[in-house]
Amino acid sequence: MSDIARNLDQIRERIARAAESAGRRQEDIQLVAVSKTHPPETIREAIDAGQAVFGENRVQDALPKIDALPPETIWHFIGHLQSNKVRKALGQFALFHGVDNVDLARQMDRIAGELGFEARILLEVNVSGEESKFGFAPEALPAALEALIALPRLRIEGLMTMAPYAENPESARPHFARLRELRDALARTAGLPLAQLSMGMSGDFEQGIAEGATIVRVGSAIFGERPATPSN
Ligand SMILES: *Cc1c(COP(=O)(O)O)cnc(C)c1O
Repeated sequence: MSDIARNLDQIRERIARAAESAGRRQEDIQLVAVSKTHPPETIREAIDAGQAVFGENRVQDALPKIDALPPETIWHFIGHLQSNKVRKALGQFALFHGVDNVDLARQMDRIAGELGFEARILLEVNVSGEESKFGFAPEALPAALEALIALPRLRIEGLMTMAPYAENPESARPHFARLRELRDALARTAGLPLAQLSMGMSGDFEQGIAEGATIVRVGSAIFGERPATPSN
């Protein structure tokens, strides 16, 4: 068994246990294997180990990998999408986790219309208020959602956040709880299910699951440490 296959087994086991402790079903939590910086050969090992969904954060890095791997592989875009990449990205990614401004969303809607697609998106929220982070401020969400609901080619499926880096994974929990509360409030006022909560990475996915994550984005715990570059 490869290291990647073993890591995936362990992550799935931990997801199952975290789900059980939270009184949730494992099937309700989707694992996105974050494959950014890793080559197709490495991703193929994860596919061979039964992993179907992968996360990438740069369009130009992802496209050659998407071409090189089987067409049934499912790709999620987890990064900050630049407006000049929208057209290239739209048909390639099943879900966009990091939509963080209304102009970008409008552009995605317009181009999706031209191409005949729908774009499934999550709104990224800067729950912690850290200046270095992307995402809507929580206070800005109700107005943003109101503007976005009117866009016919967008399917707004939920919210995404990143907790601030911390030694102790438990410190992520209040941020994840806050995202869930924001979702609950928005879903009520907007009358949309906003069913997806994308929260939790290698260091804190169990805390995400405890607070209601339906998607966890796990990279280094599956593929090993990435070379350190600022945008990873
Ligand atoms: C890189 C990245 C991840 C995965 O991080 P790990 O700590 O390696 O699990 C998850 N989400 C986003 C948005 C990322 O950019």
